[in-house]
Amino acid sequence: MSSMKKTFLSGVLIVVIVIVIVLINTARFASKQMAVQPIEEVKLDEEGAVDRFIRVLQFETVSYEDSSKFDAEPFLALHAYLEQAFPRVHATLKREVIGDYSLLYSWKGSDSSRQPILLMSHIDVVPVDPATRDEWKHPPFGGDIAEGFIWGRGTLDVKCGAVGILEAVEFLLAEGFQPSRDVYLAFGHDEEIGGANGNARMAATLEERGVRLEYVLDEGGILAENIIPGIAAPVAIVAVAEKGYFGLALTAQGTGGHSSMPPPQTAVGIVAAAIEKLESHPFPSQLGGATGLMLDYLDVFVKGMGSELEDRIYRFIDREGNILALRPEFTSLLAKLTANRLSGETMPVRLSYSGEVFR
Ligand SMILES: [Zn+2]
Repeated sequence: MSSMKKTFLSGVLIVVIVIVIVLINTARFASKQMAVQPIEEVKLDEEGAVDRFIRVLQFETVSYEDSSKFDAEPFLALHAYLEQAFPRVHATLKREVIGDYSLLYSWKGSDSSRQPILLMSHIDVVPVDPATRDEWKHPPFGGDIAEGFIWGRGTLDVKCGAVGILEAVEFLLAEGFQPSRDVYLAFGHDEEIGGANGNARMAATLEERGVRLEYVLDEGGILAENIIPGIAAPVAIVAVAEKGYFGLALTAQGTGGHSSMPPPQTAVGIVAAAIEKLESHPFPSQLGGATGLMLDYLDVFVKGMGSELEDRIYRFIDREGNILALRPEFTSLLAKLTANRLSGETMPVRLSYSGEVFR
């Protein structure tokens, strides 16, 4: 056999093998979604819950990187409001103020042999840039209800968590419920700037007391519709990992002189070249680990747009060299995330040049 013929035949063989594997995997495919029965709906005081939430949004409990800007008053006012708004919680649970403004509640369980759990949230929010106040459709601390939404800083990140937990506990207490294990509630006041005075101190306090937790349930993703392309059902993102970050200050020293005779490269040019280098060397992108698992469980490739067969084949080809695949909208989403890895940060990037600061 000529070597050309051999190459051709082995090429055909590879294609056949790939098709067979795809077909086998397609046939074997089963959704990983668990079949669960809907829980019985509980009757809540919806109007009251919305009112309390809105009220909590109106406290300007802001964490600033620059600690001289910190205003304690809204935090103390919020503490007082919570006491009044959740009377059963405050009558039954032990409340401690840690680090001056963080709140640690302990709820005694009936069975001391079981390890306690901790439900965590935070009561601080990130600052509002005064220059952008006019651009807010609704005031950041207004708690407006409009267009079917509640508006304000903290609605999603994450006063909804703290208030949601308090509402749940208040509701359960009204029903005479007592947990079997001890339950801790921990609401930090400086989570947005690292949590050194709040969460870290609460953790140290619990450790000192020898408390060993069964688990900690903290802020995660959201439960929302239309957050994953192609999935109509509401999706709850259970966050088990978080993207890390680092701050980088680039400084270049230029030569002095008159601007009528500029040097071939200025300090700005040097810094720009360095940033360009950083941007053109992105981390390799891949969908593995927790994210890969999440997509597997979401059946995202199967329930997506396009024909069912196309979806099934996409589902199985080409993920990290395996025969598993990314639908095109995910490859583009991933590319976008990587491309924005510098510009998409919430902190400003500052360029220093001749002592002036450009943002
Ligand atoms: Zn948060």
